[in-house]
Amino acid sequence: MKIAVIGAGVVGVTTALELVSHGHDVVVYEKGSGIAQQASFASSGFMGPGMVNTWTAPGLFSRQLKKWLLGQSGIRLNGLPQFPASWLWQWMRACQRPEFQLQFAALQRLAFYSLEVFQGITEQYGLSYENSQGTLLLCRSESDFVELQLPLSLLTEAGIGFKALQPDEARELEPALSAQTPLWGAVSFPQDVVANCRQFTLLAKQEAEKLGVVFKTGHEVLPLSPAKPRFVQCVNQESALFDHVIICAGIHSRELVYKLGIHLPLLAVHGYSLSAALREQMDAPALGVMDAFHQVAMSKSGQRVRVSGMCEIGTSKDTRQENTALLYKVLNDWFPGAAKTQDNVQVWRGCRDLMSDGLPVLGLSGVQGVWLNTGHGNHGWACSNGSARAIADMVSGRDCEIDLKGLGLERF
Ligand SMILES: Cc1cc2nc3c(=O)[nH]c(=O)nc-3n(C[C@H](O)[C@H](O)[C@H](O)COP(=O)(O)OP(=O)(O)OC[C@H]3O[C@@H](n4cnc5c(N)ncnc54)[C@H](O)[C@@H]3O)c2cc1C
Repeated sequence: MKIAVIGAGVVGVTTALELVSHGHDVVVYEKGSGIAQQASFASSGFMGPGMVNTWTAPGLFSRQLKKWLLGQSGIRLNGLPQFPASWLWQWMRACQRPEFQLQFAALQRLAFYSLEVFQGITEQYGLSYENSQGTLLLCRSESDFVELQLPLSLLTEAGIGFKALQPDEARELEPALSAQTPLWGAVSFPQDVVANCRQFTLLAKQEAEKLGVVFKTGHEVLPLSPAKPRFVQCVNQESALFDHVIICAGIHSRELVYKLGIHLPLLAVHGYSLSAALREQMDAPALGVMDAFHQVAMSKSGQRVRVSGMCEIGTSKDTRQENTALLYKVLNDWFPGAAKTQDNVQVWRGCRDLMSDGLPVLGLSGVQGVWLNTGHGNHGWACSNGSARAIADMVSGRDCEIDLKGLGLERF
């Protein structure tokens, strides 16, 4: 079948690779001049079921409000907040315990499956990219650990391996952790991985091209029209009719489908990463490390150290230096001297496309031939390969290898 994929971030590229492997003719449309230039550019790179979370949880609202009032929250405003009341209402409902448990389980299933698919693809195509094995979640205080109890119990139910560690055990595992910063305990996730999302995406694109996928960069697709929903029309006048169209356009997915009467509850939540040259290998993280209180991730990627996090809500497009200050602070708390942060630091601001329940939307849009693989929020890299295979299976009329319950648009 002739299939159009709209968007060439990690989700679109992995989707194209799966579709061509299923024997389809695939064209990828990307409005940018290259691939993986938006949300997939410089993310934290964490993948695996241990660290993904829906950004919903019982009591999360009051905990975040408290941190916000104390000036300790990673959630910041940048310009006018554009917060539809319906999005907030759906998010608060998703934070209730029964809903949260189901959503968390659905995300874990997808992330676990995705890690398997990712490892299979790496092996199949012999891909080589920056990566490290294992992640560590640091708790500064007992209350950080108490907050983790519900997700950890759900991971136990799902049979996902992790280990709660005493401070000295954590320091043994990650010897570069600063002794000056008090550590209450930690949780290690040995099967999780940190890998360079952009590098992987570029390699996956090369493999997809070898198999016949056509990438059309500099091609901005106009919103799909109800009269001809599978007719892809670009701003540059180019157009073509397809058997199927797969929307993988990140935060812009909602514009592409709104004329079809599909209203995706997506919120733009920006975050930052700082990538700085490695100063001293022995002072740098060996694992992917996450500060549970600040929700800031740190890792070594090749010859660089990357620190990332923050949730910016608002319409401004500006990079705010005061919002990156927390990232420098957390890096300095745990790994002082690991990176050359005085100059040549790559500051990146990327946009997460966050659905109101924190889960992606995968599957049919309700309009024949138009499919959705979007709304991946903070875990698009971790879930990309599994989502791609699942969509390719669905489009090809095959059974999916995992239960996708709770991930379709019908949940809204
Ligand atoms: C600070 C930060 C840290 C993160 N850390 C992690 C992490 O550790 N682990 C993890 O799993 N995830 C992480 N994420 C999230 C992850 O980066 C995203 O979920 C993922 O990259 C989304 O990929 P995507 O392909 O859906 O979107 P994108 O990469 O944004 O790709 C969408 C593409 O569609 C194109 N497009 C849009 N509209 C059109 C149009 N009309 N026509 C043609 N093309 C169009 C865009 O130009 C873009 O290239 C992080 C995000 C941020 C911001």
